[in-house]
Amino acid sequence: MAPAWRAVGEAVCDLVFPWRCTLCLAAGPAVRGPFCDDCRAELLAEAVAYREASCPRCALPVGPYADLAGGCSECRGKALGFDAAVALGLHRKDEAPWRDFVLAIKDERGAFLAPAMASLWAEARREAFEAVPSDALVTPVPQHWFRRLRRRYNQTDVLARALAVSLRREPRDALRRVKYTPHLVGRTRQDRDAVMRGAFAARRGAELKGRTVVLVDDVLTTGSTLGSAARALMRAGARRVVAVVISREA
Ligand SMILES: [Zn+2]
Ligand SMILES: [Zn+2]
Repeated sequence: MAPAWRAVGEAVCDLVFPWRCTLCLAAGPAVRGPFCDDCRAELLAEAVAYREASCPRCALPVGPYADLAGGCSECRGKALGFDAAVALGLHRKDEAPWRDFVLAIKDERGAFLAPAMASLWAEARREAFEAVPSDALVTPVPQHWFRRLRRRYNQTDVLARALAVSLRREPRDALRRVKYTPHLVGRTRQDRDAVMRGAFAARRGAELKGRTVVLVDDVLTTGSTLGSAARALMRAGARRVVAVVISREA
């Protein structure tokens, strides 16, 4: 096709099928949401493989014959704050695609990825969510109001809302940040734990007594943030906390 006609053809295709796959850039009827059918199938297969290859308690990678009773060799006997952790994949330096999604969704223009992440969570980790009772709440790890004032968008809000829709559970802002915390990048685990201690409290009227809470963040690194948020939920009477993230940083 002559270049000019191809351009027209692509323009018409864009009008009829406005989505392009975020990963392979294909356009057409097989692209629903941010991914084409092939790329979505690949992501799902990766997430299912990670379920088999990771610890159900802390979401770190484990070997094929690891004994996971009470957690893996990294987390066994350690108080994490949460009872279980669900991650779609691993987040190492320069490792695509999960790290790319975590980075993209930090910006408001990446919010369109949230429903796709939620459907991957629900499908790849069905067994973890089947154990979540019907009156469970889905809640985001909140930002401090000061940070929120400067940046109204919070990726954990859109992720939690999308996951609540996928799981047909109630979304609720059950937590607030009561302490302004500096960025944690580059700090040791002990340092992060100290910074995050007491950073969260349950909101008044959150009605957490005896309930399971699905606690949503974008990434799980040392677990200091999710652990501190989970402890605030437990202090307010929650029975069980399942931490859910796009990616586990090893
Ligand atoms: Zn694709
Ligand atoms: Zn573990």
